[in-house]
Amino acid sequence: MKAWAVTVPGQPLKEVEVPTPSPKGSEVLLEVTHCGVCHSDVHFWKGEYDLGGGNVLKITDRGVTLPRAPGHEIVGRVLECGPDVTGVAVGDVRAIYPWVGCGKCESCRLEQDNLCTNQRSLGVIEHGGFASHVVVPHSRYLVDPGDVDLALASTYSCSGITAYSAIKKLMPYDADKAIVLIGAGGLGLSAIAMLRAMGHNNIVSVDNNPEKEKAAMEEGASAFVAISSEHAKDRILAKTGGPVMGVLDFVNSTDTARTGFDLLDKGGKLILVGVAGGQITLSQAGMVFRANAIEGSLTGSVQDLRDVIALANEGKLRPIPIQEMAKEKANEALGLLRDGQVNGRIVLVG
Ligand SMILES: [Zn+2]
Ligand SMILES: [Zn+2]
Repeated sequence: MKAWAVTVPGQPLKEVEVPTPSPKGSEVLLEVTHCGVCHSDVHFWKGEYDLGGGNVLKITDRGVTLPRAPGHEIVGRVLECGPDVTGVAVGDVRAIYPWVGCGKCESCRLEQDNLCTNQRSLGVIEHGGFASHVVVPHSRYLVDPGDVDLALASTYSCSGITAYSAIKKLMPYDADKAIVLIGAGGLGLSAIAMLRAMGHNNIVSVDNNPEKEKAAMEEGASAFVAISSEHAKDRILAKTGGPVMGVLDFVNSTDTARTGFDLLDKGGKLILVGVAGGQITLSQAGMVFRANAIEGSLTGSVQDLRDVIALANEGKLRPIPIQEMAKEKANEALGLLRDGQVNGRIVLVG
């Protein structure tokens, strides 16, 4: 099979030929039809994550071997099933849950593969959707997209479930009370769509790029604040009408997390989702006196993917802007995303 793969971190992806796996046991082989390009792919391409304080996590320290095809927002067509496969047949088109776990631990038994400590994620440990084919260990990782546009359905495997799972951590939440979303890229826009679908109607979207305003407002944000200039906190508070109970930080840099935390009301929660990197200093007594919480949110579960696709099939979920590109343009797509030039999501096809 062909794969657009990282061969050397930070260098352009190369098209390589790797053996096409033949599915054994409960494994399913799919031909990739669509693959969304996510910010995590840019980090993967760069080969490292900024952990703050000068610490860096190299992908090769996470068990990644190169060459490896990134891409984890995948829709594919079933090509071949192992002898023990039930629930899908050759020719079926399915959205793929990419955050595959070890299959043995407690998290995996609860279908919370995203919390497994021995993950075999597609596009990280195994070849992902930048390859022509992918293998999943079991048909339970495949979700019927129903009537959802396939390019859009691909984005639900990461940005969709990541937004959904992060939002759930703030629930229950008064539908009329302001909620702040930092970042109006693929994830931020997905979160606006999800919150609207859940009946929320006071969403303040924040981004350092003022050009993201149009997309955020069209997606259903109640207000937009560009925070590239000074006094970000005050300008956001002017839109929220005061401190808020919930902030979702889809960027999660030192600056955005600081701003997000400083927006919280007593009892309010900051959910960290992005991996831009950095660190903030907190007053421990202040955390107690104000009863605040900060929580990290890592992608979502298989059930979250089923839930998001069901929400989309009910017609409640407004689509995010999608730009389809040929897979041969994978390098160009990553460059555009790195440079903040993408409105919504690029989805590689073919
Ligand atoms: Zn992703
Ligand atoms: Zn596990």
